[in-house]
Amino acid sequence: MSSSRVPAFADVDSTAFWEALGEHRLVLQRCGANGHVRFPPMPACPVCADTEFDTVAVDGGGVVYSRVRVHRALSPAMANETPYTVAAVDLDAGPRVFARVEPDAAIGDRVQPTFVDHADWTELRFRPELDQSTGDQS
Ligand SMILES: [Zn+2]
Repeated sequence: MSSSRVPAFADVDSTAFWEALGEHRLVLQRCGANGHVRFPPMPACPVCADTEFDTVAVDGGGVVYSRVRVHRALSPAMANETPYTVAAVDLDAGPRVFARVEPDAAIGDRVQPTFVDHADWTELRFRPELDQSTGDQS
């Protein structure tokens, strides 16, 4: 491990992902055979099973595919966090990822990645894109 920002729950496939989050960057694996961009990190392409891949930086955000508003904490550690939103976000780069969205966003809203530093790891979150037509956040 080259970074102290890699959480204990990371494995050999996800270490690069967590290291990048620690640098406030989002990276994904891109298959070396067919170019399929995948998430979560895994040892082989889910489309063609090729094991060669590049780690590519993702610029740009995505669209909220689905969401839930959490009102009841799942653990005492989250008691002061409710209510919050967890969304499935379809990234422009291809994969669907799951993360919190702060502030809340609706299905179909565009969102951009943000990075929240915890004691020894960094969490991927999303925030709504500013609506250029009204100046409001949707
Ligand atoms: Zn592939």
